[in-house]
Amino acid sequence: MTLPNDKHYRLALRGVVKRFGTFCANDAVDVSVAEGSVHAILGENGAGKSTLMNIIYGLYQPDAGTILVRGREAGIASPRHALALGIGMVHQHFKQVDTMTVVENIVIGLPGSGFLDLQRHRARIVELAAELGFEIDPDEPVWRLPVGMQQRVEILKLLYRNADLLILDEPTSVLTPSEVGPFFALLRRLKESGRTIILITHKFDEVLSMSDDITVMRTGKVVATMRTADTDARELARLMVGRDITSELTKSPANPGRTMLRISDLTVMGERGLAAVDGLSLEVRQGEILGLAGVDGNGQKELAEAIGGVCAIAGGSIEIDGTDMRGFGPAARKNRLRMGFVPEDRQRMGLDLDSSVALNMVLRSFRSRPFSRAGWMNFAAIDSHAKDLARRYDVRMRGIAQAVRDLSGGNQQKIILAREIEDEPDVLVVSQPTKGLDIGAIEFVQKTLLAQRERGCAILYISTELEDLLQVADRVAVISKGRVVGNIARGEATSQRLGLMMAGVAQ
Ligand code: ADP
Ligand code: MG
Repeated sequence: MTLPNDKHYRLALRGVVKRFGTFCANDAVDVSVAEGSVHAILGENGAGKSTLMNIIYGLYQPDAGTILVRGREAGIASPRHALALGIGMVHQHFKQVDTMTVVENIVIGLPGSGFLDLQRHRARIVELAAELGFEIDPDEPVWRLPVGMQQRVEILKLLYRNADLLILDEPTSVLTPSEVGPFFALLRRLKESGRTIILITHKFDEVLSMSDDITVMRTGKVVATMRTADTDARELARLMVGRDITSELTKSPANPGRTMLRISDLTVMGERGLAAVDGLSLEVRQGEILGLAGVDGNGQKELAEAIGGVCAIAGGSIEIDGTDMRGFGPAARKNRLRMGFVPEDRQRMGLDLDSSVALNMVLRSFRSRPFSRAGWMNFAAIDSHAKDLARRYDVRMRGIAQAVRDLSGGNQQKIILAREIEDEPDVLVVSQPTKGLDIGAIEFVQKTLLAQRERGCAILYISTELEDLLQVADRVAVISKGRVVGNIARGEATSQRLGLMMAGVAQ
């Protein structure tokens, strides 16, 4: 096979280096993206994928290396410049102006655009959308659209600016399972229309079904480049993580003791004055993991927040080892009732993003000894505690003074887990602990939870990721519309059966 020379690539990176201080996030990276292809960049959290894309999009300047656009060297100075070269990027956490309509969001920021020609823009946007089979109401304010639709608006916005190379950074991480299929259908249409796509992801099935070529990155370096047709999930996993991943966790049978977490007839109000949790009961015993499966939005978030003590309950009770938790705040639940809590929204609720790793490690205990005394923080104790935990939980960072915001999702999750379990809680409630994590980090989370179970901890594991849940749970309960609609032993819990229960089809 003869490879095209750089002139024939839509985009080629040669020896691209990006450092943050002394840390090298991209180390002599070579990537060649063929015209009209879907090129996947696969890598664990923290591998350097987003950094590289930000370089291509002109948000960062590389410290070394060159970028070739259709064979011609280009210093990409800004996103505006990238767009002029036909390169557009949809960030993982994109932001639109909520109150504006789809058309307004697309038109805003266009050079030389005023409201006067909004009608003309609208007509052209509608035409472009129809051409690509986007079903979207141009006059809808974006806040009313589901995230999957908002993502389409972002893509449309780039296409409307004539981008023909689209960089999509972990696009499926914000989608619900039912939105993923239509999204991929859309990508296929974009490809058929001749556009080039760089797809960032850490999910093999997506890579294998969508891409033509793959670049695998690990710790800032490219470790492999291949045609998708020539590889498989096993090889990709090994390349991405740098070792073999065992798909089956070794796990001894559970040996449950007495009931530690008892939730009885719990009701929690959600948005719009409806009960999000509606008379829910469940029990978790010492030394077992109860998996709570369900489609997102069936009350899981409110349930977890009620247990965590960050939202009020409207009825029923939550008891830990016989003590009603009402009247105990989030800190007291950890320190006095001995409950660890890993929230679903780790960036908003689990961490203080602008604070250091060290402070985040004591977020729920810095007011007590040894971390503070008579109101004075003991930074020496906080730092040595953080260093110890970071080592034991393999947190990859530049140092404990680094702001948590800069860390990858997997490493942020490790910090929360470390903090919530290092004092050996009796009960642990974890919500979506593997969401957005790559396979290496997922394995780490699962092994950590199993070790806690071995120690006798009672664990409630709430997750929409069924496969992950089935790997660790001893029993599975299904939540639907705020209630537990089924309880099954691990042996009988197949994804198919659970899927039906989750959809409310079968008991
Ligand atoms: P990925 O997208 O593959 O998960 P990133 O490119 O976001 O990885 O991050 C790669 C590494 O660079 C991470 O270790 C991260 O902590 C670090 N990093 C990313 N952005 C910054 C920044 N602005 N300042 C310092 N370090 C950063
Ligand atoms: Mg990223």
